[in-house]
Amino acid sequence: MKKIILTGDRPTGKLHIGHFIGSISSRIALQNSGDYDKLFIMIADAQALTDNYGNVQKVRDNILNVALDYLACGLDPNKCCFFIQSMVPALTEITFYFSNLVTLARLKRNPTVKEEIKLRGFEESIPVGFLTYPISQAADIGAFGTTIVPVGEDQRPMIEQAREIFRSFNSTYGEVFAIPEAIIPKTKSQARLVGTDGKGKMSKSLGNCIYLSDEPEVIKQKIMSIYTDPNHIKVSDPGKIEGNVAFEYLEAFATDESFKKYLPEYKNLDELKAHYRKGGLGDVKVKLFLNNVLQELLQPIREKRKILEKNPEKVYEILFKCSKEANLIAEETLRKMKQAMGINYQDYFAKK
Ligand code: ATP
Ligand code: MG
Repeated sequence: MKKIILTGDRPTGKLHIGHFIGSISSRIALQNSGDYDKLFIMIADAQALTDNYGNVQKVRDNILNVALDYLACGLDPNKCCFFIQSMVPALTEITFYFSNLVTLARLKRNPTVKEEIKLRGFEESIPVGFLTYPISQAADIGAFGTTIVPVGEDQRPMIEQAREIFRSFNSTYGEVFAIPEAIIPKTKSQARLVGTDGKGKMSKSLGNCIYLSDEPEVIKQKIMSIYTDPNHIKVSDPGKIEGNVAFEYLEAFATDESFKKYLPEYKNLDELKAHYRKGGLGDVKVKLFLNNVLQELLQPIREKRKILEKNPEKVYEILFKCSKEANLIAEETLRKMKQAMGINYQDYFAKK
């Protein structure tokens, strides 16, 4: 079976360290392994409009931000096809036929959508487009014959729903869609990186992010004010690791190498945690260590991005070229769907 990878991001802001650890690092590993037939990365502008319909400019402006972040992280346009969702109109038509295969009750059960509705304060006034975005996400995945989807934990229910839609289509009309697998980081902190406020996942829409392009002093200031253990007041107090954002981030980003380089009095994270739990280790020391780890990760990304920012037209050129290529592939899938459904009337009646 062909190995086709598809993943994407909503252009609702610049990318953050949660994207990096939850999804971009897997994409880069897959890209560098060379072990795939095609790698698609979609900037999901149409999906972003489902909850930003009144703010098109935000979505439009962030297409460039997201693409710059991809390139700065090392995603290579010679190896990946970066495209803009709304420039592939076949996706909308595929969504329309898929929507017959999903019930309203099933959509309402999706735990990620439920949480997002709550966080966005939609209550009963949910735009239909927002509630149904998992169907359009299934169209994005299915249109390219995707077999692997590298994503964060919040996307697990979307992939599950897409798999159900593909099975339903295949059994109702005939085999058109491969059943894809999600690749989700194994550790909890990486699969769902918590926001700096410690309340929920780090999310562009919630403003609790450390962005890949943040300046060094901004990164430091954000780290120094992250949520830790409110009862750990004096250095000598025993501290709690659970729910402590500093330790969540160290879990996700620090390696034994980081300890050797920046905090050699501890061998690894387990030793640091044990000391914190016992008492005698202050938050400032932990945060300064975390600052060193994140500054090292983000410096080359930020610097590369600054160079790329000077030539936005080159970035748009890549996006437009890939979007055309993606459109041809999605149109071919739509043709196969219509053939399986028997609504390819010209061919169908020509044969009679
Ligand atoms: P928005 O708030 O607009 O939904 P977001 O920050 O949730 O933005 P998305 O564009 O929805 O970002 O997600 C893009 C990809 O990054 C998805 O694969 C998603 O699972 C992953 N991702 C997003 N946030 C995190 C996070 N905090 N930890 C790990 N992975 C994440
Ligand atoms: Mg999201």
